[in-house]
Amino acid sequence: MRGRGLAAATVLVVLCGGSAAVADTTTAGSGARNIIYIQGDGLGLGQRDLLRLALKGKNGRLAMDGLAATGLVRTASDDPGEIVTDSAAAATALATGHKTRNGAVGVDGNGRPLETILERAKRAGKSTGLVTTAQVTGASPAAFAAHVPSRDSQSDIAKQYIENSRPDVLLGGGEDWWYPQGNPGLWPDKPGEESRSPYGNLVERAQRTGYTYVRDGDELRATRANRILGLFANEDMVDYGPDGVGKYAPRVPLQQMARKALDTLSKNPRGFFLFLEEEGTDGMSHENNAHGVIDAGRALDATVAEVLRFVRTHPDTLVIIGGDHETGGLSIENYDASDTDPDQDGPFDVPGSKLRFTVDWTTHDHTGADTPVTAEGPGSTRLGGTVQNTDVHWVMRLASGL
Ligand SMILES: [Zn+2]
Repeated sequence: MRGRGLAAATVLVVLCGGSAAVADTTTAGSGARNIIYIQGDGLGLGQRDLLRLALKGKNGRLAMDGLAATGLVRTASDDPGEIVTDSAAAATALATGHKTRNGAVGVDGNGRPLETILERAKRAGKSTGLVTTAQVTGASPAAFAAHVPSRDSQSDIAKQYIENSRPDVLLGGGEDWWYPQGNPGLWPDKPGEESRSPYGNLVERAQRTGYTYVRDGDELRATRANRILGLFANEDMVDYGPDGVGKYAPRVPLQQMARKALDTLSKNPRGFFLFLEEEGTDGMSHENNAHGVIDAGRALDATVAEVLRFVRTHPDTLVIIGGDHETGGLSIENYDASDTDPDQDGPFDVPGSKLRFTVDWTTHDHTGADTPVTAEGPGSTRLGGTVQNTDVHWVMRLASGL
């Protein structure tokens, strides 16, 4: 970062133009032994409202809404041609504190590698993990532990994981990038989803270098290994599609993956950095499938509750829940039986009332909306304002002294 020589708290003031909440001058470096960043991909304010209304009712509260600090995150990337970010640039901002162009993973606009918070944690002797219902080599987790100019280079990302950044826990989908052409791996190939690693069998290579490979939820539950690789789908762990077609049913639930990651990483007395991601909130929003968003959001909120139970007994943990961008332009509307707008989803019941609502969408793409962030633990109050996505990186760094 340009201001590395400055006191860390000062750097934040410069970055945020003096936002009072973020300019909190709490002493840097005291407090957070563990950092857990939980991402609902595509989780905008509309998605959080939808989940709250559909799952908890009008006056209910999601687990993710019960944290001490709430703020808004500006998500735009530093792209020459687009104002709206993609997941790669957004995750790079969080992971490195630098905005970059869309598609770039852990590198700046010129393709130069940027050190990530996960790599810093590793250097400080902490354990590290990447857990997602997307492909584990997908853009969001990848930006924390790999450096490639294009998010499509997923076999390169896998190779960098096992050769360079070596996260202790790697759980998600995407085994196609780990096996060479002609070797389908455990999950059958299908047209358009074939094994394609140009580097041979990366699962075997991971095993040779100390990873225990687990193939399903039972093996994940049973292992006591300190270094775990689990690939639970040929590509995505979720079948995306419009209402009635797409189905949220990952083979291993996010909550179970999170539980194992917490058990494994918390063995390290120096602490850990863990990135946890629910991809279904984005994938289903791309499909304008509000039922799918609700199913994915239910899993995400159960995972948040699991993490908060861990935090209760490990108060030296900073936990942050955010979205990298909004997807779909989702809005909540009153149910009107005479409205025949084909973009509408629903109606949905509001638990504990006779009220119903519908969901309307404006796009199948990402939008430029700010996303809500909630946080708890050492340093979390710095997120109680409007901040840039790069500031979230600095909040993690300040809280942990990394
Ligand atoms: Zn997306």
